[in-house]
Amino acid sequence: MRRSIATVSLSGTLRDKLQAIAAARFDGIELFEPDFTNARMSAAELRQQCDDLGLKVELFQPFRDFEGMPQDAFERSLVRAEKKFDLMEALGCPMVLVCSNTSPLALPDPQLAAEQLHVLADRAARRNLRIGFEALAWGRHVNKWRQAWDIVQRADHPHLGLIVDSFHTASLKDSPQGIADVGEKLFFVQMADAPLMGLDVIDWARHHRNFPGQGQFDVVGFFEQCARAGYGGPLSLEIFNDVFRATPNRRIAVDAMRSLLWLESEVRQRLEQAQGEDAHAARLLQRQVLFNPPPVPRFSGLSFIEFAVDGAHAEALGHLVRQLGFRFAGRHRSKAVTLFRQGGVNLVLNQQATPAARERFSLQGPSVCALGLRTDDPVGALNRATALQSARYDAPTGTGEQRLPSIVAPGGIVLHFVDEALGENGLFEKDFILEPEAAEGAGGAGLECIDHLAVGLTADRLDTWVLFCRAVLGLDAGDAVKFADPFGLIRSTGMSDAARHLRLVLNMSMSERTRMAQAAQASGGVGVQHIAFGCSDLFAAVDKLRRAGVRFVPISDNYYDDLPTRFEVAPELVQRLRAAGVLFDRSPQGDYLHAYTEGYAGAGFFFELVQRLGGYDGYGAVNAPARMASQAQEEQQ
Ligand code: MG
Ligand code: MG
Repeated sequence: MRRSIATVSLSGTLRDKLQAIAAARFDGIELFEPDFTNARMSAAELRQQCDDLGLKVELFQPFRDFEGMPQDAFERSLVRAEKKFDLMEALGCPMVLVCSNTSPLALPDPQLAAEQLHVLADRAARRNLRIGFEALAWGRHVNKWRQAWDIVQRADHPHLGLIVDSFHTASLKDSPQGIADVGEKLFFVQMADAPLMGLDVIDWARHHRNFPGQGQFDVVGFFEQCARAGYGGPLSLEIFNDVFRATPNRRIAVDAMRSLLWLESEVRQRLEQAQGEDAHAARLLQRQVLFNPPPVPRFSGLSFIEFAVDGAHAEALGHLVRQLGFRFAGRHRSKAVTLFRQGGVNLVLNQQATPAARERFSLQGPSVCALGLRTDDPVGALNRATALQSARYDAPTGTGEQRLPSIVAPGGIVLHFVDEALGENGLFEKDFILEPEAAEGAGGAGLECIDHLAVGLTADRLDTWVLFCRAVLGLDAGDAVKFADPFGLIRSTGMSDAARHLRLVLNMSMSERTRMAQAAQASGGVGVQHIAFGCSDLFAAVDKLRRAGVRFVPISDNYYDDLPTRFEVAPELVQRLRAAGVLFDRSPQGDYLHAYTEGYAGAGFFFELVQRLGGYDGYGAVNAPARMASQAQEEQQ
C-alpha cells in the first residue's frame, strides 16, 4: 500500500513539511495548492526536492466550484483548469481533486455536472492526467459520495473517477456501504477521523479532524469498504487540525504514519476473519499488501511503577509509601534503587535513572519515569511497538541482570514489557537483594493492585497518546468527559484493554492555569499525575492510612449534603462517607468509592485509593471537581 499525506496536515514551510513527511517514510504527498502558491520555489524545484526525498506528488488539490455551472463560468473554469494541468505536468502529478461545487451559481443538475466533468476529463486525458471527483459534506447540490458516484458514472470517462473521504461521509452520518462496488473507478482515498461534535460541519472539518484512531468515526469500517473495492493506494491523510498546525511537524508525521499502519492492520484483521466464508476477502488478502504487525499483546496489569528520585526524595517518598502500607522489599544489587511492595503492587525508587529520567527529575522533581507492563509475550509487544513507529529502549544492565524488552512512549516515559510467567519474585530476584518474605503483610493497608494511572498531557500530546494507546497497546477509548477545575476545563479519556487489566486515564486541559496543565507542561508534555490503588475495603484502608499519618484531600461538607439529592444513598452510608472523607459515584453497573491523598511535596502527583463495587467501569470523573476545588482552596489558605 502506498501511503500519502496532504501537506495541509502539518505545520511549517513546504520545505519543512516535505522533510518531515519523508522522515516518517511516506511514499507521497497530496499537494495542498496554497502550500505551493505561497512557497518560494518553482514547480521544477519542488519536483526535484520530492524526487530527492523519495516522495511522489500523488494528488493536486483542491480544484473548486467546477461542475454544474452556467456556460460562461464553465468556460472560464476550463481556462483555469488548463493552467493547473500545466502545473501538474511540471510537478509530475497525475491527478487533481475536484471537490463538489459550493458556489451559489451551481445548478442542481447532475446531468449537466456529468457533461462538464466529461469535458474536463477529455482535456485531462490529452495530457494523460486524471480527475478525481469528491463530494464535500457542504457541497451545494452534491454532498454524499453516492451523488458524486452517480455523476462519475453518468460522465463515463476513463480519466474521471471517484475520490472518497471518510470525514465527509462520517460527518453526515452517511454510510460507506457500497463503496466496495465502485471497483477500479475508485481513484483516491482520503482518511480522517474526528471527535463527535455538535458543530457546524465546516468548522468541524476545518479545525477538528484528526488521524485515524484518534477520533470516534468508524474509520476501519470505511477503509474496509475501500479495500473491498480492490483499492491499492495511495492511502492518504487529509487533516485540518488547529493543534497539528501548531505542533512540531516531525512528531505529527510520526503519528500520521502510525495511524495508517494501524488502520491497515485493523482492516487486514477483518478480512482475515472473514476469509473463511468470503472468497473475495481471501482474494484481496492475496493481492493487497496491508500492513501486518505482530498482534496486540495481552496485558495482565502493571508489574511495577518506577520513580526517578534523588537521595532526599528517595527518603521522603520512601517515607510516604511506607505510610501508605508498603514495605521495604529490597535493594538493587548494583544501583541506588529500592523496591517497595504491597499486595500485587511494586514501586521502584530509582536514584540512577536514565539521562532522560534525570532530565525529567531536574525539570519537575520526582516523577514516574518508567512502567512495567505484564504481558504473555514481551518480545511480541516490543516488536509490535517498533513496527508501529515506537523507539526501542535498551536499558544499561549489569552482567546477569534482568533484561526487559522496552520502548519509549511518546514524551519519554519508558515502558518495559514484563513476562507474566516470571512471577513477582522472578522479576526482581535477579537484580535485587530481596528482604525475607516473612515481613509480608505486617504493615499492609489492604492495597491490592494498581487500578489505573492518570496521565496528564499538554493539548498537543492528547491525540498522540490516544493513538499510541490504541495502536501500540491495543487499548480502547471510553467516552471523553469534560469537567471543571476552578481554573479551566479538563478533558479526560479512559483507555483500557477489554479485560480491564490495564487502565490509563488521559487528562488534558486547554487552560494553562490548571494545576494539571502546569504539571504536564513542567514534565515536558507528559507526566503521570496520579496512581490509583485498588482495594476491597476502602473505609478500612483510609482509616488505617489516616492513622499512619497520610493526609487526604479534604472534601467539603456541602458535597455530602448534596449527595442524597444526586443518588439514592442510605443516610448511614452518607454519614460513613462524610466521616471518612470518601467520594462516591454510581453508574447503572455499580458503585465507586475513592479518596485522594494530598500532593507529594509539590511534585504534581498524588495517590488515589479506589474500590469498585459491582461492574462500575469509570473513574469517578464526576468527583474530580471536588478534589480540584479542594486543592485550590488549600493553596489559598
Ligand atoms: Mg478531502
Ligand atoms: Mg483517578
